[in-house]
Amino acid sequence: MDCPVCKNAMITLELKEVEIDHCTECGGIWLDAGELELLLGEPGKAKQLLNSFRSSTDSKEKPRRCPICDRKMQKIIVGTSKPTLLIDKCRRGDGLWFDKGELKDILDRAKLDKDSKIQKFLAEMFSHEQHNSESKADAEN
Ligand SMILES: [Zn+2]
Ligand SMILES: [Zn+2]
Repeated sequence: MDCPVCKNAMITLELKEVEIDHCTECGGIWLDAGELELLLGEPGKAKQLLNSFRSSTDSKEKPRRCPICDRKMQKIIVGTSKPTLLIDKCRRGDGLWFDKGELKDILDRAKLDKDSKIQKFLAEMFSHEQHNSESKADAEN
């Protein structure tokens, strides 16, 4: 699957048997339909979060294309807190796109992910990338 932002091939990571597509170039994350619920592991809270989604009609953000069906995705406002958090959602329901940091932001704001499993995973994922480039730099020195 290609990243909807930079068109790079995304890599697949697995957390709690949920497959997460991640772009190492821009740090974005794609979740297939239903994966956010699986990731959160708490159906009640996940539902609450999904219920807070509202479509944004006056977004200045450029529409992105769904990596599955290639149609323009819809801008979705998550929750009511400011600054407004916008994510992209496939109109056919293929899944959700989170720019770098947006998934973490959503979890923080919704006070989900109490034991921080997802946060830790995301932190590891990004520190791993940093670590790789650091060790490369070390080798060059
Ligand atoms: Zn990307
Ligand atoms: Zn789609």
